[in-house]
Amino acid sequence: MKFDIEKIRSQFPVLHQEVYGKPLVYLDNAATTQKPQVVLDAISNYYTKDNSNIHRGAHALADRATGYFEETREAVREFIGAKEAAEIIFTKGTTESINLVAATFGRKFIKEGDEVIISTLEHHSNIVPWQMLCEEMGAELKIIPITDSGEIVFEEFEKLISPKTKLVSVVHASNALGTINPVKQIIDLAHAHGAKVMLDGAQSTSHLQIDVQELDCDFLAFSAHKLYGPTGLGVLYGKREILEAMPPFQGGGEMIKEVTFEKTTYNEIPFKFEAGTPNIGDVIAFKAALNFINDLGKSAIKEHEDNLLAYANELMLPIKGFQPVGTAKEKVSVLSFGINGMHPFDVGVMLDAKGVAVRTGHHCTQPLMKRLGLEGTVRASFAVYNTKSEVETLAEGVEKIARIKN
Ligand code: PLP
Repeated sequence: MKFDIEKIRSQFPVLHQEVYGKPLVYLDNAATTQKPQVVLDAISNYYTKDNSNIHRGAHALADRATGYFEETREAVREFIGAKEAAEIIFTKGTTESINLVAATFGRKFIKEGDEVIISTLEHHSNIVPWQMLCEEMGAELKIIPITDSGEIVFEEFEKLISPKTKLVSVVHASNALGTINPVKQIIDLAHAHGAKVMLDGAQSTSHLQIDVQELDCDFLAFSAHKLYGPTGLGVLYGKREILEAMPPFQGGGEMIKEVTFEKTTYNEIPFKFEAGTPNIGDVIAFKAALNFINDLGKSAIKEHEDNLLAYANELMLPIKGFQPVGTAKEKVSVLSFGINGMHPFDVGVMLDAKGVAVRTGHHCTQPLMKRLGLEGTVRASFAVYNTKSEVETLAEGVEKIARIKN
């Protein structure tokens, strides 16, 4: 192990509590991660000392708040390797980032007879906006199929893509199964056909080193709350020339240069896409979350989480009745499973009674569950603060529960 896990855990106050008289074992990190003290302090400091509206004020507090806000934009740029900070747009989350692209890029560049490609692995937020767009524009939505182990069938993608394809939008790492998609290959092939590529990075950005210039993706969407940052905040990265060609998303303050009743001229990017007062305090606090990750190092974090996943598999695969779901070769630290003869929800409730927090259900991937012939799964997902002893608690719980029916 590359770092001191107890020291890391000491930075997360929420982890140090009991539920139903048992120590909390928080394994629902794919849903949202807990927040370190530095993030909590940054939120509190902002409202205690700097609270002000940004970009417009002619006073010290507004200057300070604007400076901190833009510092986070720069930190995000560095975090994902973007060329310039103007390519970083703050949104409410991954969902809003995807909807923004569908509503602006989509409405302008996707026309009747065009095609959009997604995969079977997608979260609903990377399905429904494209369905809505295709319905509105008379375009067609095509779906890359997957294998039983939860990996996309690349040859099928090769067959689907054509000059009609205007956009490919795929999840970088699946929230339900953990599968890491071969996004570089997808991007290269899409570009060879003249299509743009959007990556849903909600689950990848916390685990994988990301360099948008190296990947050459056209858009990347992700959420701060899955990166140890606050809820209600997300990022849309887009290449400058594409963002500039897109119409605004919403109208209002901040996104304009000049307004008359006859005509409005729009602001430069990124402000063109940030109408209204943004989530200032949370943006400022997000920098503390990114610093927290950078200080530990993404590769050390990934190694730690991979070890936990391997250990969980080692302990649970031999359990009678344990059924792993999603066995892709390349995975982030998500373990989806079922127990023979038991409903996932019941398993989740029984684990909860032991203090173990997991997610159960369809994980906002109903078409994926349908493809796998499942109603849902139990999902344990690991983060930097989880320990081997917590994995043992999970495995002991699963073993006891499995014995009821197996
Ligand atoms: N995409 C994936 C893969 C996710 O895991 C999630 C959240 O669980 C989302 C999109 C939506 O993220 P948000 O609810 O933060 O907008």
